[in-house]
Amino acid sequence: TVRNKNIKSLMGERLPRRVMSTLKEMGQVAGELGFKAYLVGGSVRDLFLRRENLDLDVVVEGDGIAFARRYGELHPEVKVRSHKKFNTANLTFAKSGLSLDVATARLEYYDSPAALPVVELSSLKLDLYRRDFTINTLAVQLNPPGFGQLLDFFDGLRDIKEKAVRVMHNLSFVEDPTRVFRAVRFEQRFGFRIGKLTEGLVKNAVKIDAFKRLSPRRLFGEFRQMLEEERAVACLQRLRDLKLLYVFNPDLKLETREEELLEDLEEALAWHRLSFLDQTVEQWLVYYLGLSDPLEPEGRQALGRRLGMSRKQRDEMENERERALKAMNLLQRKKPAASEIYFLLHAQRPEFQLYIMAKANRQWAKKAVSQYMLSLARVRPEMDGDDLKALGYTPGPLFKRILDRLTAARLDGEVLTRDQEERLVMKEFPKTADGA
Ligand code: ATP
Repeated sequence: TVRNKNIKSLMGERLPRRVMSTLKEMGQVAGELGFKAYLVGGSVRDLFLRRENLDLDVVVEGDGIAFARRYGELHPEVKVRSHKKFNTANLTFAKSGLSLDVATARLEYYDSPAALPVVELSSLKLDLYRRDFTINTLAVQLNPPGFGQLLDFFDGLRDIKEKAVRVMHNLSFVEDPTRVFRAVRFEQRFGFRIGKLTEGLVKNAVKIDAFKRLSPRRLFGEFRQMLEEERAVACLQRLRDLKLLYVFNPDLKLETREEELLEDLEEALAWHRLSFLDQTVEQWLVYYLGLSDPLEPEGRQALGRRLGMSRKQRDEMENERERALKAMNLLQRKKPAASEIYFLLHAQRPEFQLYIMAKANRQWAKKAVSQYMLSLARVRPEMDGDDLKALGYTPGPLFKRILDRLTAARLDGEVLTRDQEERLVMKEFPKTADGA
């Protein structure tokens, strides 16, 4: 049974005005073409959760591509890309950055027995039935005059209120095991709980190892999305409790010791986010380094392989990690000078710097990384290559040596002015006859 309810006013409260008028117009356009359009999925769910979400999904009963093209004709500023194979389209709104996906639910007619007329089965309902969880099956009608009418075929609203993640049917995880990871993500993101029956189905999927047929590509996609969540560590803990970590690698553990490193990484990431509002790091990579840290090198290779990393990628990752650990050990041996910090860290990616920061157990080593990121990283000598040329030096490998030396001198306070830099160069790099 469908419970009907109009949520136009909730939409008006939660959605920016331009989005609201876009949706209304879409309903009109669909109507003129003889189609029906619905806003569906995550953005409807998030209206009720009071979470901003401007990734809009529209399902068109009829022809989604024809609908998108017509809308595009009326709005030249909107970029329309169609995907014939899937009968889908994507609309990108240049000004607002809004992105909207359109899918087609083809009207499916079923001959009914005897003299009864042909029955039109709601294709929207069929489309929604194929989705992952009840909380993602809400739809809102966009056509006038019923704009804002909520269609809740599968008790999605009840489950949102009960904070429950529930699958649509018992074979859901067998059909698509990635849904298990999606369930954990939604659960942790919203503070929900996987329903009892659904949790039983997760355990069943583990029992029959439904995950073995998951391709590395898809598994990596899920893994990465999970580690990009704000509550990534909580997601991993939940995976552990559901005995799902083995899917990635049988040796992955998450006991107190391993948890501590992940929590330190969480703290390092939070620090970075607050300190550098305009710079982002690949959060998933930071957590990947932490999660795989306790594994033996062979275990890390196996994990990388399961996630579809090429031989080259795995080897590069291992080299980068080794370099980071070497730097960490040197930073920990004794309090390092500013120039030492600089040259140990400046060739490392920020993700690896945060790994060092979290993993180091000496306070001064942690401090060294933050000092590097906050200020040392930007220290440069006043002189540059042109200045060296003007002094009569010939460009070549020597330039790098001189400039590195000047950077170190700056960092350690050996030189404070340009004059002092020049004197240091002349003293330490006497020119030979050929200028080298
Ligand atoms: P997120 O914020 O993580 O993107 P979302 O709910 O918007 O959350 P998407 O991954 O963008 O989710 O997917 C859009 C919709 O497609 C979802 O609402 C969901 O119902 C459906 N969907 C996505 N993946 C699956 C799947 N593996 N099986 C069934 N339905 C899926």
